[in-house]
Amino acid sequence: QGAAMAAALASESIAVASDVPPKMKAWVYDDYGPVSVLRADDGVLVPEVEDQQVLVKVVAAALNPVDFKRRQGMFKSADSALPTVPGYDVAGIVIKVGSQVKNFKEGDEVYGDINENGLTHPKRFGSLAEYTAVEEKLLALKPQNLDFVQAAGLPLAIETAYEGLERAGFSAGKSILVLGGAGGVGSIVIQVAKHVFGASRVAATSSTGKLELLKSLGVDLAIDYTKENFEDLAEKFDVVYDSVGQGDKALKAVKEGGRVVGIWGALSPPGFVFLLTSNGGMLTKLNPFIEEGKIKPLVDPKGPFPFSQVIEAFTYLESGRATGKVVIYPI
Ligand code: NDP
Repeated sequence: QGAAMAAALASESIAVASDVPPKMKAWVYDDYGPVSVLRADDGVLVPEVEDQQVLVKVVAAALNPVDFKRRQGMFKSADSALPTVPGYDVAGIVIKVGSQVKNFKEGDEVYGDINENGLTHPKRFGSLAEYTAVEEKLLALKPQNLDFVQAAGLPLAIETAYEGLERAGFSAGKSILVLGGAGGVGSIVIQVAKHVFGASRVAATSSTGKLELLKSLGVDLAIDYTKENFEDLAEKFDVVYDSVGQGDKALKAVKEGGRVVGIWGALSPPGFVFLLTSNGGMLTKLNPFIEEGKIKPLVDPKGPFPFSQVIEAFTYLESGRATGKVVIYPI
């Protein structure tokens, strides 16, 4: 993989704006539906760059549950028009800059979640393509210690993790229970809670085979949900971060005066559900923690999936059993 990456980089680094072709390869769907609506198309127009945007030559992209929920039509009332090129998370190289862009130049290695608000008119031309156009404020320079595969898996998950902890009022010395600790979001919540916020104690849930992984991420108490009900434990937590959608049970695991933060499903007070806002500045703020090795991306070992296997990658993510991030590379 190292040699392939070096070769990809060598070929990318000579590309300049004038080399951008009019058409590109992309995954597209024309109607909402199951994974079978996806098709590879090598004649998709390369998106135009607006004043505040850069054109990114995509090197790696990651899948998120929002990609398949959107494809299934769950958010269609506020979706952009079909046909759609899916994909939120991207890592790649800036190949062209809009007239108002201040912080990036051609050749910069960047990463980010390309949709500021994921459910309100997300872009028609997403990251599962050779090129994608992104507002500069949604991007950050790629951490120097990460390759494009690792970087692609981080933006949406880490922004969700950090924003949720912030909204829950999490701070040093507090305890947290992370529901879904082995998932794309949960695996990052564990690390951000412990190493950015300074959690005193981190508990998390997973199935039996993923308990050791949880411990390797910094979990003090790994709970096997196939054997134990976390809501029946005597121990309660200052914050419960629910990435699974187990709101009622989560409310039974929080201390008096604590908060439950959810990202899927419904929650009554003291719980709340929020929707992340993509924010390149937040990635820039977190980059030192990544570069110091305090937050490590978790790329699912079944991947990365080559661009030709996007359908297989979605099928796997949609099984709900992914460990960390499902990444698409090379593109
Ligand atoms: P993933 O697909 O990465 O989650 C898969 C993981 O979930 C697996 O490792 C699995 O572990 C774990 N899991 C499944 N069921 C349980 C369970 N009952 N208890 C504990 N772990 C479980 O998803 P993401 O982390 O990317 O996203 C999680 C949810 O959050 C999705 O619904 C997504 O749409 C939503 N989301 C919302 C956002 C927002 O802004 N509101 C932002 C990001 C995501 P195992 O195999 O051990 O069961």
